[in-house]
Amino acid sequence: MGINERIKSAAAFERAQKVIPGGVNSPVRALRSVGTTPLFVKEAKGAYLTDIDNNRIIDFCMSWGVFILGHNNDRVSQAAVDAVGHGSSYGIPCEAETTLAEKVREAIPSMERLRFVNSGTEATMSAIRVARGYTGRDILVKFEGNYHGHADHLLVAAGSGVANISNASSAGVPDGFVKYTVVLPYNDVEALRAYFAENGDRVAALILEPVACNMGVVVPTEEFLKATREVTEKHGAVLIFDEVITGFRLARGGAQQRYGITPDMTTVGKIVGGGFPAAAFGGRADIMRVLAPEGPVYQAGTLSGNPVAMAAGIETLTQLSAPGFYETLEARSDRFIASLEKIIAGKGIQLNRCGSMFTLFFRSASPLGSSKNDAPVRNFQDTKRSDQERFARYFRSMLSRGIYVSPSQFEGNFISATHTDEILDYVLESIAQSIE
Ligand SMILES: *Cc1c(COP(=O)(O)O)cnc(C)c1O
Repeated sequence: MGINERIKSAAAFERAQKVIPGGVNSPVRALRSVGTTPLFVKEAKGAYLTDIDNNRIIDFCMSWGVFILGHNNDRVSQAAVDAVGHGSSYGIPCEAETTLAEKVREAIPSMERLRFVNSGTEATMSAIRVARGYTGRDILVKFEGNYHGHADHLLVAAGSGVANISNASSAGVPDGFVKYTVVLPYNDVEALRAYFAENGDRVAALILEPVACNMGVVVPTEEFLKATREVTEKHGAVLIFDEVITGFRLARGGAQQRYGITPDMTTVGKIVGGGFPAAAFGGRADIMRVLAPEGPVYQAGTLSGNPVAMAAGIETLTQLSAPGFYETLEARSDRFIASLEKIIAGKGIQLNRCGSMFTLFFRSASPLGSSKNDAPVRNFQDTKRSDQERFARYFRSMLSRGIYVSPSQFEGNFISATHTDEILDYVLESIAQSIE
């Protein structure tokens, strides 16, 4: 393919930087860590983006996993347009909120009661407040490299864009705000058991990405996931699965369905709003009852349950419940991953994958063939051993071939229903050329 010089995007970026910090409304979009500047998009359809310089680009970021049906799905867009025709916000209940809530619960039965918010950040923040209100305890346990949005007390050893900041935390968060946040290494059953044995009775909640995706894709061991359920149950702490990425992605019922483990509370986002700002938190009815107006835990939102987002979400979840949807996506991903494994063999690259999400971790060329270089990537420390410069060259090479992979070593790539075998074959060819 090859792409045009990004002249208009460069000008648009100049203009944006004069009014928006860094020119972007979310830091990773600036593409700094991969040594380039953003493309500005004018439209998206299926697996393709078109930028303002008229480059048609295959997208593997898919708005960070939102578009499992592909960009601008005809029926989802039509549902949103129809909804707008009836007014775009009421601040008074509408039936679409209940309809989408029923559909979410049908897919994820552990969300016996749920409430909609506008972003994943709000969903995790609210879930944790509920867990604290329910247990009357303060401590929150999270895992290194897991990202749960940008609430103050969660910006500790966080993944995603925070991973590009030197100590993986944020300035502007007072120490006092994080004094109840405890961080443990991911996939480390012993550390988890040891912490709970000592402090479990003071823990309000354990929150995790059941399959981590914000330090690159890192798959949990079955033993680890089981242990999260066991220790929380034993000590009366609330187990929160942050399925903002994995919900409706790894199965209709998310990671909890795929792995057969039932948390007390769940957060979903990204896919659930069909490309509009919506997310949800929910869980056991007895826990969710602490929320106002039934209980003493306050949580609210002017645009929460927005009718346009609800309509897009309803149509998205309807399409996802078509028989065979996930089987087809999984089979297509299997075929792609099998070829990808052959391409990267012996090249100092680790491939992590779960369902339709994957990350390639680039390792430094090691003249001694150090065994550490091809050890599996199981936690944040492993992902941090990646060669960022090599990843940046790979990103730029893929972009020059008309493919936008997720622009950081600490992010996942997403295959959608619109990534045909033909598109995936072109991507494989481009990966083979790019890593040479
Ligand atoms: C994206 C994400 C969030 C934050 O969601 P926003 O909508 O960006 O606020 C939280 N948790 C996980 C696991 C995510 O992937």
